[in-house]
Amino acid sequence: MNNTRLTQALATLTPDVALALTTSLGQQGFTGKIPASIITPVLNQPEKLMPWLTFAAQFAITPVSNFNVGALVIGNSGAAYIGANMEFAGQALSQSVHGEQAAINNAWLHGETGISHLFVNASPCGHCRQFIREIAQHQQLQVYVLGKDKIAFNQLLPDSFGPDDLGNKFALFEQPQQVFVASEQSPVIDEIVEHANASYAPYTGYYHAIGLITSDDQLFVGRYAENVAYNPSLPALQSALSQLRFTGYDVTDIKRSILVHKTGQNIDMAQHYSSLLRQLNALNLDLVELS
Ligand SMILES: [Zn+2]
Repeated sequence: MNNTRLTQALATLTPDVALALTTSLGQQGFTGKIPASIITPVLNQPEKLMPWLTFAAQFAITPVSNFNVGALVIGNSGAAYIGANMEFAGQALSQSVHGEQAAINNAWLHGETGISHLFVNASPCGHCRQFIREIAQHQQLQVYVLGKDKIAFNQLLPDSFGPDDLGNKFALFEQPQQVFVASEQSPVIDEIVEHANASYAPYTGYYHAIGLITSDDQLFVGRYAENVAYNPSLPALQSALSQLRFTGYDVTDIKRSILVHKTGQNIDMAQHYSSLLRQLNALNLDLVELS
């Protein structure tokens, strides 16, 4: 895969940092992760992490706003994960993914158990502050906005509405694993089921994940991250599409899409996903039910 976005992004880094990243990339190539070996030595010098925001912003897809957000979160493992915003031309604005959501989703899908730092090139909007409120360690989260002093997340969202307000004792990154089984099995479906069981839907029970299969048979799986305030929830399709572009693929490279979902809940997003996929790439969405 020729990752043009990665090539452009590497050009924004100093040669030594760009070389450190390319040297670290294994067979899988770039997946949106910056190894801890690059991040940890400079974590106490936040100014040295700011260039990664310009790097991350190269992955933004913004046909509507032309406003590219670059974000970086540090996971508990010490590795960092980039985020960039994503918009869909001709679609509702509510389909958009914000840069901070993309970075958090990236860390979550890479198996992190939480995040400690957020770096972003513009002050987090209210939507993102509410999205972050759902995270287990939000009270310890340190936020660095380009050109501003470090601020604790709690100062950005005082007197907040949180999971407790709807009686939820869990949090994103510390969600209990579900044990649903699918109506059919195959290696691809089994992998999507695993993600559906790791999805986060404490308010509706609509646990689900979407797998996108590219024309060269790569599988990208996104999972649902629900929010106590509902609207900042990150849909599984957006979760998958957000990861896809870090690796150099586009929506036009997808040949098959599969939704694995727990039907019979108060909400169902199958039609919503189908409609977006049809319009993006004339794709049909295959459905697999969990019980
Ligand atoms: Zn935002």
